[in-house]
Amino acid sequence: MATRKCAAVVVGAGPAGVAVVGNLLERQLGAVAWIDPSFESGRVHRKYREVPSNTKVSLFQAYATSLQPFRTVIENTPRPNAFTAMAKLDQEKTCHLHYAADMIRALTDGLIKMEQVHACRGFVTAANLSSKSDKPNWTVHIKQDNETDLHLETTRLILCTGAHPTNLPIPVPGLSITPLNLDVVLKPSELATTLTTTPTTVAVIGASHSAILALLNLLTLAQTSHPHLRVKWFTRHPLRYAEYKDGWILRDNTGLKGSAADFARTQLEDSELPTSEAGKVIEKVDTAGGEKREKELYAEHLPGCQYIVQAVGFTRDPVPKLSQEGESLGMEFDHETGRMCKPQAGPPIPGLFGAGIAFPERVVDPYGNVEYAVGFFKFMNFLRRVVPGW
Ligand SMILES: Cc1cc2nc3c(=O)[nH]c(=O)nc-3n(C[C@H](O)[C@H](O)[C@H](O)COP(=O)(O)OP(=O)(O)OC[C@H]3O[C@@H](n4cnc5c(N)ncnc54)[C@H](O)[C@@H]3O)c2cc1C
Repeated sequence: MATRKCAAVVVGAGPAGVAVVGNLLERQLGAVAWIDPSFESGRVHRKYREVPSNTKVSLFQAYATSLQPFRTVIENTPRPNAFTAMAKLDQEKTCHLHYAADMIRALTDGLIKMEQVHACRGFVTAANLSSKSDKPNWTVHIKQDNETDLHLETTRLILCTGAHPTNLPIPVPGLSITPLNLDVVLKPSELATTLTTTPTTVAVIGASHSAILALLNLLTLAQTSHPHLRVKWFTRHPLRYAEYKDGWILRDNTGLKGSAADFARTQLEDSELPTSEAGKVIEKVDTAGGEKREKELYAEHLPGCQYIVQAVGFTRDPVPKLSQEGESLGMEFDHETGRMCKPQAGPPIPGLFGAGIAFPERVVDPYGNVEYAVGFFKFMNFLRRVVPGW
């Protein structure tokens, strides 16, 4: 890498990091250093290629065409390519996420060829803020692929470091049960080889979009290669769906959409499950009714299960070690501005920002419900609003 000083350092090359780099380039702020171990679209490529999307194809297209640097990449990419593949799909329908992952990869490949972008394969381990001058000055430490260390200086450090499925303690302490990673259950090809074909019961916890996809994948397996597979589905909540209103979507970020919603409506609702195909494999354990009742139900049903998969949300991946003048620096994310602040609603930390699933925008719908906006186009909308202030 030729330069050691740059206008911005972007950490992470998932859909959020790509959107940040595009927005910074559009604002022509100068050289952007971009750090990621692989530049392969982040988790959507590594884990979710086989997952059906919950957003329409048109929203992935809207993401890819929002910015001039992206449009330049699309124009310069030999055809056929990931953009032409996406354009051929029905724009009003959903698609498998491999289309979206390939689109992110094609944008990445184009962006890293641009003169203002300095891509570095590696991992950001730490960053220190010096407040000696008027402008924030971050020194960013990178462990490169070749094991050598690189130090960069910048006025803007942007964390797009992603998140992983949350794992809570097993609800019955001391129980011998094998945790099954949610990412594995969301990938049918890996799930099929992870579970044996002997009689097996998997406990699924949750009623989120991911939980419903997990149930669907397990059901499909039971109906094909794993006929002895059974599922106990533990949920506190009734199924909740996204509702299309006039110009906005109720439960846009938390409600079921697409094929997960169709499956839930037709097979998992209490009125459907006893007679549906899903009901032959899935037993629902309704854990509503308070903590005590929930504990009792887990104690009763969980010992009969060999595996447990938790689909109860996502947790931020660890961020680089942050310090100011060598002293450890705590931070909280401001979901309105994309800035990091000192803990307990303290002042903004100069030059430190975040985006993506780890640092999403907070949105309030017309009914006053608060949600966090997660999805490619939502990241883009947020960034288009906040990056001019960074
Ligand atoms: C089941 C499921 C279905 C989904 N469906 C949709 C959908 O239909 N439509 C939609 O728009 N969205 C969907 N999403 C959301 C979307 O795919 C994810 O939220 C998105 O991929 C997250 O992007 P990200 O860039 O924030 O993080 P990631 O993709 O996790 O990328 C983070 C990157 O940062 C790198 N990194 C982390 N730490 C460091 C470090 N210290 N130094 C260097 N690099 C680092 C990682 O290696 C990784 O490459 C879905 C998500 C899930 C889980």
